[in-house]
Amino acid sequence: MKRTLLSVVTAIILLSCNAQNTDKTKTNMENKNNPHYSNTDTNKVVVKDEEWKSLLSPEVYYIARQKGTERPWTSKYENSKEIGTYYCAVCGNPLFKSDTKFESGCGWPSFYEPITKGSVIYLPDNSFGMKRTEVECGRCKSHLGHVFEDGPPPTGLRYCINGVVLDFKKAKEAEANYNKKH
Ligand SMILES: [Zn+2]
Repeated sequence: MKRTLLSVVTAIILLSCNAQNTDKTKTNMENKNNPHYSNTDTNKVVVKDEEWKSLLSPEVYYIARQKGTERPWTSKYENSKEIGTYYCAVCGNPLFKSDTKFESGCGWPSFYEPITKGSVIYLPDNSFGMKRTEVECGRCKSHLGHVFEDGPPPTGLRYCINGVVLDFKKAKEAEANYNKKH
C-alpha cells in the first residue's frame, strides 16, 4: 500500500517537473528560432516580410507586421502591476518600463513614456477616417499601437499598445540578462 502511494507521488512530481521543463524550453526556443531577437543589440533590424512570417507566431505577425489590433481587454499585461521592462516581442528592443504604465481603462496596456526617445518611432495614420499617430518599434519597425494626447502627467501622452507584441521581463531577470552581456 505504502509503495503504491509512493509511486503515485513520484509520478506526480515527475509529471509536474516535465510540464515546467516543457514551458521553459518553449520560451527559449521562441527566442532561439528568431536570430533577430536581442535585449541589448541596438542595430536596426531590416527583415523581409516572408522571413518574419516564418519566424513569428501568427498572432504576433498579424499585429506587428500587418498592423493588426488585438481585441480589447484580452492582454494579460493590461492590468499587470509587475515591476520590470516591456520589450518588443519581435526584436527584443526595450520599449517601456513598468513605472510608466498606468490604468487608462481603454482595454490595452497603456504607458505614458517610452524608455528612450529612440525606443519607438511615430507615423501619421489616417486609416478608418481617423487622424491618429501610429507607434512602431524603433529597432525593427513593427507596429505596436497608437499614441494619444490624453495621458497623465508628466508627458500627457497615452501609448496604447497591443500586449501581443510586448515581451515582459521582471526586473531581476532583465538585470541578470543585462549583466551577462556587459
Ligand atoms: Zn522591435
